[in-house]
Amino acid sequence: MVVDLRAPMDGWISPLAEVPDDAFAGGLLGPGLAIDPLADTVCAPAAGEVLAVHAAGHAVTLRLAPGLDVLLHFGLETVRLGGEGFAPLVAVGQQVAAGDPLLRVDLGAVAGRAKSLVMPIILIEAEGWQWQPAGAQGLVAKGDMLGRITGAGAAESGADADGEALSLTLRVPLAHGLHARPSARLAACARAFDARVQVEKGEASAAITSPSAMLRLGVGHGDTIRLLARGAQAQEALDTLSEMIAGGMGEFLAVADKVEPAAIAPAAASAPQPGDRLSGVMAATGMAVGHVWRPRRAEPELAAISQGEAAERALLDEALAGLRAALTAQSEAGTPQQKAILGAHLALLEDEELVGEAYAAIAAGASAAMGWRKVLWAQAEALRQLPDPRFAERAGDLLDLELRLQWQLCGEEPEAPLPPHGAILVAEDLMPSEVAALDLSRVVGLATARGGPTSHVAIIAASRGLPALVALGEGLMLVGEGTPLVLDADGGALEIAPEAHRLVSVRAMIEARAARRAAAMERAHEEGRTSDGTRIEVFANLGKLSEAAPAVAGGAEGCGLLRTEFLFLDRQSAPDEDEQTAQYAAIADALEGRPLVIRLLDIGGDKPAPYLPIAPEENPAMGLRGLRVGLARPDVLATQLRAILRAAQGRPIKIMAPMVARVAELRELQGVAAAQAALLGVELPEIGVMVETPAAAVMADALAAQCAFLSIGTNDLTQYALAMDRGNPAVAAGLDGLDPSVLRLIAQTCAGGTRHGKWVGVCGGLASDPLTVPILIGLGVTELSAAPAMVAEIKALVRSVDVADCRSLAARVLEAEGAAQVRALAAEFIGGLA
Ligand code: PEP
Ligand code: MG
Repeated sequence: MVVDLRAPMDGWISPLAEVPDDAFAGGLLGPGLAIDPLADTVCAPAAGEVLAVHAAGHAVTLRLAPGLDVLLHFGLETVRLGGEGFAPLVAVGQQVAAGDPLLRVDLGAVAGRAKSLVMPIILIEAEGWQWQPAGAQGLVAKGDMLGRITGAGAAESGADADGEALSLTLRVPLAHGLHARPSARLAACARAFDARVQVEKGEASAAITSPSAMLRLGVGHGDTIRLLARGAQAQEALDTLSEMIAGGMGEFLAVADKVEPAAIAPAAASAPQPGDRLSGVMAATGMAVGHVWRPRRAEPELAAISQGEAAERALLDEALAGLRAALTAQSEAGTPQQKAILGAHLALLEDEELVGEAYAAIAAGASAAMGWRKVLWAQAEALRQLPDPRFAERAGDLLDLELRLQWQLCGEEPEAPLPPHGAILVAEDLMPSEVAALDLSRVVGLATARGGPTSHVAIIAASRGLPALVALGEGLMLVGEGTPLVLDADGGALEIAPEAHRLVSVRAMIEARAARRAAAMERAHEEGRTSDGTRIEVFANLGKLSEAAPAVAGGAEGCGLLRTEFLFLDRQSAPDEDEQTAQYAAIADALEGRPLVIRLLDIGGDKPAPYLPIAPEENPAMGLRGLRVGLARPDVLATQLRAILRAAQGRPIKIMAPMVARVAELRELQGVAAAQAALLGVELPEIGVMVETPAAAVMADALAAQCAFLSIGTNDLTQYALAMDRGNPAVAAGLDGLDPSVLRLIAQTCAGGTRHGKWVGVCGGLASDPLTVPILIGLGVTELSAAPAMVAEIKALVRSVDVADCRSLAARVLEAEGAAQVRALAAEFIGGLA
């Protein structure tokens, strides 16, 4: 039998020995060669079956023939990227033809973080086969011949070695599990013994001498495995191999605290019962009472048989043109939000690679409908697997386009289902076009099993003022059609068939809230002042320019927190100084002379930015984030400071530093800012500190002595005070900013500010919670920066309280035992207001 191996992409071929990695260069994984990629898509070097797609997305193993496996390992030390930059296009078990795309790589994202982009192509399993390289060196094009493999295939392995098996169970402490390189080392070591060693993980097992079988086992960090050895040197082999693994093989990461997956694996979803509450993530604020309604997604009948390549290509082209025209027309008539979404869809349709892959599928014998489906479904699945949820959420857009094109192909229009009045739209995930086509005036809320708070559906819901919950889990799909629901987006809960009295009381709450909002809006433009005349500024938090004007219309007296990282989060390259200057100036101008507090970039932790990669950290919330990133990347900090300084000329702009923990960090920032101001020949605006760490709260007086103001970021302060990760659903229930520990830190911050005559504000979530406002005022806070939609209500509440009463409430809550008691005292206080 003969198998030809062809270049998986355009690139530069070199011998394996030149790869800067001992395991590959030394042939530990097997023979082969390497290619320096000149393209971003890795294709199959021969026809075969996909045996493994590594969990980190960087490596694919193909079985080309029985006993003949080839590993395509993109880059060196790329397993550490945890999937970032890699989009596998195939799934295990899939049959591929030579030249079929296997893996797409974001070269820009990977290049800066991998040791090298060179891709070893290794015959990791080739017993009974001979490898004859074609002698290719230097530049090759995709599909060029690299070598020929001949042989009769693997001989049947002999009977099990005699003797009793010795076994040993251990947990794997390698940070990235038993990936290709450690597997190769273990295989090489095992071959030195007169013994046969098997590795078992759960029900599955692999010979340790077969790196490909080991990769298929998918042994991850902290997994428990069993080594079984037979033969004359079974004990020695077991001792040596287990010692290697237990020692971490240079990639040790403690596993003592890791919870076994079995212990936390979610139980299979069972149908929720009346009175149950499903927890989800808020995608748009508000509350609703309604009943389950599921739009039925109409599916056209697909033409599965190809009429020949030329005919199918023409059909696809025609359908693509038709869809482009339809999207353009819809976009022209749409709202700004719809325009943005449809623009993104149009850009996907223009993506030459996507369309090129559909052509390739057609060339391989698929009909236009099947080819398009194959490519788009694979892309959507690849997006879903990406660790960054913002990419995963874009999968819905691809599936949406897939279906819209199918309707174009069959020349029909799907009928939009008509929701009944009072419907809560329930779906696994919602496609933007599905929502856009619906008569939303009949819908009172949205609830999805999947999705995330940044998906397009969330944007539509917010722009229509509809409360929405996402990520409610698969149990949602088992709730019967027509079931009454209470959707409490702010509380993150969907109540299933609550009792009648609950429905009545929630309806009353919704009506009272609407009335309160209407009344508050009437006086939204009055100054924030308590009933005894104390000035409390009520500002809005902003994340983009388009939010500024509505915030002013809603009564905001300025912006107390501009999250600058949100202005530039969705892009691949860092914004330059001019672009930043223009954005800051435009936002300040939209505030029409009101103050603007610009927070320096708060990248890191839960806010990764593709253009500012931070090496994976075991505990990112406590790692490189906020001001620490700026101080570690002086170029990025200097650019942003220069942009702010330029925008601040003639505009009331202040600078605020996130995640400060030490006075020295503030001093360093002030030094850099002063130097930039001197270079530009401009005056330095006021610099304030965000109090988000317990250290900053405790040292507030020392910080206040050095800076212009303090603003408390209660979201982070709460997570650090309680040592509960704000992104971890397992501890979300206990993460309450009204915990007395957090309130005592706020009190300490206010005392520190007062001692040096500096104002103290709150820009974290507590400032948007009416229950908290009297407590914050009582503790000494004089500026509240809230979500724009809450400004008018917060102002109304400020008007209704007296500072002396707030102080006595604050004194009482500081003595409380827990958040529940604080909440009860605060609710009683608010209930007693006129
Ligand atoms: C906070 O931590 O409270 C805050 C306002 O900052 P962010 O939520 O952006 O981390
Ligand atoms: Mg914060």
